[in-house]
Amino acid sequence: MKYETVIGLEVHVQLDTKTKAFCGCSTDFGGQPNTRTCPVCLGFPGSLPVMNKTAFAYAIKVALALNCKVQEYTKFDRKNYFYPDLPKAYQISQYDLPLSRDGFLDIHMDDGPKRIGIRRVHMEEDAGKLIHAEDVSLVDFNRTGIPLLEIVSEPDISSVQEAYEYLVELKSLLEYLDVSDCDMEKGSLRCDANVSLRQEGLKTLGVKVELKNMNSFKGVREALSFEIERQGNLLDVGKPIVQETRLWDTGKLQTFSMRTKEEAQDYRYFPEPDLPPFIISAREIEEAKAAIPELPRQKLVRFMRDYGLTQRDVKILIASREDADYAEECFKAYARPDVKPIANWLIGPLLSEANTRNGGLRVLKVSKDDLLELVSFVEKGQISYLSAKSVLTEMIDTRKAPGAIIKEKNLAQVSDSESLNAIADDVIKENLKSVNDYKQGKAGAIMFLVGQVMKKSQGKANPKAVQEILKRRLSDA
Ligand SMILES: [Zn+2]
Repeated sequence: MKYETVIGLEVHVQLDTKTKAFCGCSTDFGGQPNTRTCPVCLGFPGSLPVMNKTAFAYAIKVALALNCKVQEYTKFDRKNYFYPDLPKAYQISQYDLPLSRDGFLDIHMDDGPKRIGIRRVHMEEDAGKLIHAEDVSLVDFNRTGIPLLEIVSEPDISSVQEAYEYLVELKSLLEYLDVSDCDMEKGSLRCDANVSLRQEGLKTLGVKVELKNMNSFKGVREALSFEIERQGNLLDVGKPIVQETRLWDTGKLQTFSMRTKEEAQDYRYFPEPDLPPFIISAREIEEAKAAIPELPRQKLVRFMRDYGLTQRDVKILIASREDADYAEECFKAYARPDVKPIANWLIGPLLSEANTRNGGLRVLKVSKDDLLELVSFVEKGQISYLSAKSVLTEMIDTRKAPGAIIKEKNLAQVSDSESLNAIADDVIKENLKSVNDYKQGKAGAIMFLVGQVMKKSQGKANPKAVQEILKRRLSDA
């Protein structure tokens, strides 16, 4: 049987404010357990919440960047449930009048863009953290009350790859907006998924299963793939899908049932009496709009148009705002119509150096001038590409200029024919079989000989010059 996959994602993102959503406690990660708490976030009777202005402004900014309609009138509600990490026994959230609704996010698949609807973006507060040790369970309330945004997509996602692209795009957008560090390992970005299957062509949705505990992009991919297969197998043999919440087990690589899914009425939502409703003015919305920088989608289109680069290359270069800014500085300084050589250096050697140092291009601290100088050494044939890569590593480690390193390490390419001729003659003598192959028309054999000359010159010979010399020598003989 053929099935269509229907996925909706709920992303929770911690807002990067200095203090918590409704009190003055610090939101810094780490710290001794239960030291960043007060009567408000511990839910002491008589304590009152006060809205964090910055969190509210961030939420509006995100909603607008996701093309949502920010509501003029919004209020907060209590979502009631008992759990040891929730000292108030309710979470302040938003129910029927969320901050914003009806937006979208465009993702870029290889076969073109796809629009994923955003049902709502609302504000709420985080719960504490339970730590399960051998014989005991411990609770840390430092995280309790950290401002969260919940971003709920429409069930428009129809494959694992689309879900992945959506998360990558959303994370990049949030980073561009500078509202969260989006660190999945620290839990600042978390993702739940609703997954169902339906027979191809049918309009009605199948029974959906909620997936939780996917703590990485890899986890999301694996859990969704597993769940789609599990549901397909059940449907194939005519067994029903149970509406439930399932947890992803990163060790066993499978999902298992946690509980049957709660319905909204189970939470007994009611308006939060300690916070007034909020009226958001047109001016506030305009101000928030003005604070939105150029977003990844716009940058992608502009980079492809202005610099003539492919979608694939641009996606890599603009994954973070900092990298994109650095790339653009380099392109401008290069000042030539075709910036592809610089883009290749950035995407290749520089990003790979950055990855080994766990950062973006900026951590390398290579100035655009030094990079351009290095590239120009290669373009003029003064050093080989291979040497240039080792010069780059040295530049990063020592902060020296490329020219100085080339001189110091004696890396300048040998192009003068006298010394190259001598090496070429040796190589010809030592590799008569390849020489014969070449003479009998195997053009590729020359590359082997070039390689041998390169080896003998310890990589310093100019490969172009070597090839010319070899061709001349072999046609003479
Ligand atoms: Zn507090």
